[in-house]
Amino acid sequence: MDSERTPYKGRLRRLPSVDRLLLGFDEAIEQFGRKATTSALREALGDRRKRIVSGEPSSTDEIAIRQTALKMLRDGAAPGLRRVFNLTGTVLHTNLGRAILPAEAIEAIKSVATDYSNLEFDLDSGKRGDRETHVEKLLCELTGAEAATVVNNNAAAVLLVLNTLAMNREVPVSRGELVEIGGSFRIPEVMQRANCTLIEVGTTNRTHLKDFRDAINDQSALLMKVHTSNYKIVGFSSEVDLTGLVSIGEKHKIPVMEDLGSGALIDLSRYGLPKEPVVAERIALGADIITFSGDKILGGPQAGLVVGKKVWVSQMNKNPLKRALRCGKLTLGALEATLRLYQYSVNIADDIPTLKAFTRSLKEIEEMSERLLPPLQKALGQGFHLVLEKPRE
Ligand SMILES: *Cc1c(COP(=O)(O)O)cnc(C)c1O
Repeated sequence: MDSERTPYKGRLRRLPSVDRLLLGFDEAIEQFGRKATTSALREALGDRRKRIVSGEPSSTDEIAIRQTALKMLRDGAAPGLRRVFNLTGTVLHTNLGRAILPAEAIEAIKSVATDYSNLEFDLDSGKRGDRETHVEKLLCELTGAEAATVVNNNAAAVLLVLNTLAMNREVPVSRGELVEIGGSFRIPEVMQRANCTLIEVGTTNRTHLKDFRDAINDQSALLMKVHTSNYKIVGFSSEVDLTGLVSIGEKHKIPVMEDLGSGALIDLSRYGLPKEPVVAERIALGADIITFSGDKILGGPQAGLVVGKKVWVSQMNKNPLKRALRCGKLTLGALEATLRLYQYSVNIADDIPTLKAFTRSLKEIEEMSERLLPPLQKALGQGFHLVLEKPRE
């Protein structure tokens, strides 16, 4: 038996050798291979050696060491990125992967992943094609825009717009709209990396059209509006609306962009939900460029969508940054399938899981909670006491 007084050198000597541990460890060798098993045993032995030297309690028992190694092997073999339960009540949770894809999008990913595809091949003409043809057409139809392009996420979309239209020039933005989105997306920093000069306009709570007019000079390249999706300025406040900004832009021949963040393709107020800006409505108001995410309210794959006037979108497609920010075939397949649902589905709120979650009735949510309560209580054990709190009528 080890005791506090046993000199640690003696205890170290009692640790079995790797060869000895490998004998009788066929269970692991068969499943994980000799090489991985050997290195797991080495790691398990190393841990014990360290603990013995630092005087912590540690067993030198062979069976226990093999068990430690087996746990390491099993943990290492399990996928790192895996399914979890989302019990937060937040439908679009960035830390939990945002939108759950529609079945059609998953089917599209599978189809382009398991075979060759016409990604950049035009089957009609037999010539080289453009990877964005299919999503561009759908995006234009769904938003009324002249042109569209797609990049990796909305942060990339904003970066691409700024860098293409305003490199080395000025971009006036209201002080009330210099947003930070979780995960280090901040308008002033993106502006800097896009090589544009941010011109802060107005004050935190109030910005007027006159402030924008005063900020414009021959260096102004783009007027920017940002949807404050994660906060609200209330009280004595006023913001410049898109229509006003568009009229100034037209007068001075400066394009106007709006970063909508989670722009919606349909009006959520149809379902009794708070209104989120609808991309087609913003285009109709005269915005030159709109940017929004593929995996927020839209309910598709992670992507940054840019829609707007052809003159600007074609410049973006020629920017070398576009090549670095472009989407892969899996994203394009999933996005096209999701957009197709918006175009053709007769019951969109049923076919897009994100919209389905948003439009559930209170009764449905309560019934689900009642169903979940007993197994959840069981899984958490006696240290927890769960109760269902219903919102007051
Ligand atoms: C979410 C958001 C972004 C960033 O979009 P990602 O798709 O997460 O890169 C940018 N601007 C606004 C206003 C947003 O809400």
